Amino acid sequence: MDIKTVGVVGAGQMGNGIAHVFALAGYDVLMNDISQEALDKAMALIEKNLDRQASRGKITTEEKDAALARIKTTTTLTDLGPTDLIIEAATERETVKQAIFEDLLPHLKPHTILTTNTSSISITRLATRTDRPERFMGFHFMNPVPVMQLVELIRGIATDDATYQTLLKVVEKLGKTAASAEDFPAFIVNRILMPMINEAVYTLYEGVGNVRSIDESLKLGANHPMGPLELADFIGLDTCLAIMNVLHDGLADTKYRPCPLLTKYVEAGWLGRKTRRGFYDYRGETPVPTR
Ligand code: NAD
Repeated sequence: MDIKTVGVVGAGQMGNGIAHVFALAGYDVLMNDISQEALDKAMALIEKNLDRQASRGKITTEEKDAALARIKTTTTLTDLGPTDLIIEAATERETVKQAIFEDLLPHLKPHTILTTNTSSISITRLATRTDRPERFMGFHFMNPVPVMQLVELIRGIATDDATYQTLLKVVEKLGKTAASAEDFPAFIVNRILMPMINEAVYTLYEGVGNVRSIDESLKLGANHPMGPLELADFIGLDTCLAIMNVLHDGLADTKYRPCPLLTKYVEAGWLGRKTRRGFYDYRGETPVPTR
């Protein structure tokens, strides 16, 4: 199936990045959010990020202008009905996502493929709330979307091969690389990454190392571009904790027990870069370890 028009639901951190890469790849994008302010902020951010790509010579100014012209916004969800592909990237709450699909369904074209960017909710379960489980998939982009090369494609139990092959081609057209994951908690990247971050927090909690020595060890000893605690601050400690809880609940194995120190930071509201304090304090000139 040939995808030409794309509807993006949710204009937050992920939604704006998704709209950006699709528009740059030549798709017409209609982006929806319940908040006009979120849409305005998303458009400003897309323009800023495209400008940065242009100033670095990664794209031309003509490509930038053409991409911006391909993105339209709306606060009316049902306007997305006539698009060929919907990517739901709204708040990570199952009831929110279910309500979006239920509102959209009566307005969709029969061939429209429905996808979700969820990091943790079961694709199979979300699909059952739609009229098209065979044309429903997980389409998991990484943050920041314009920079990260990988996209995880997650088939629910009922997803058909034509849908999967269509999305494989879309990923190719975006210039990204697809990894196929089965529909089990946290898929591939977070299934491996989050327990590593959680273990780094345990290493800190048990006093084996401090923030600096743990991050230096993984950067210089394992060639990771960022230390695990620095990376946790970048992702958001609340997100890290939520994903550990999904693994712990979904796989019922104590090896996924969230570290009590991670919970403590979240309780303190020290969520990382976004609150300017986490494993590092970002309020000054340079980040200072908090332990
Ligand atoms: P965010 O909080 O930055 O943005 C969510 C947006 O959804 C907000 O602008 C909000 O106004 C909007 N929204 C809420 N309810 C809505 C509705 N009913 N209709 C339309 N818009 C609605 O969140 P985010 O970080 O962009 O995450 C979005 C999704 O992407 C989640 O499912 C999350 O699990 C997934 N995800 C996030 C990351 C990440 O690193 N942040 C990575 C991969 C996947």
